[in-house]
Amino acid sequence: MTAPAVPGIILYGLRAVPGREVKGYSGPPATLGSTAEAQVRLIVWCNACRHRTEPDVAAMAAKYGAATPVRDWVGRLMCSQCSARDISFVLTGAKC
Ligand SMILES: [Zn+2]
Repeated sequence: MTAPAVPGIILYGLRAVPGREVKGYSGPPATLGSTAEAQVRLIVWCNACRHRTEPDVAAMAAKYGAATPVRDWVGRLMCSQCSARDISFVLTGAKC
């Protein structure tokens, strides 16, 4: 199964392959702070067990620092269900 691909969604976290960036996002790197400010929904999921959650980005920004890039933060996540570190995420637009 591939990562969910929905039109209008910015896809990140497709396993960092050296020299191969995921296209489709050309702005500055999203940080926890900018994501919270833009009221963008952050959805993270575990590739190992499919556990999926939507963390409160504002709370995460307060806890880990608003300047923390979302990608770096996700890189530190561990699945609460199976302890895998194979975590992907998407940011979805705020205008729903
Ligand atoms: Zn898991």
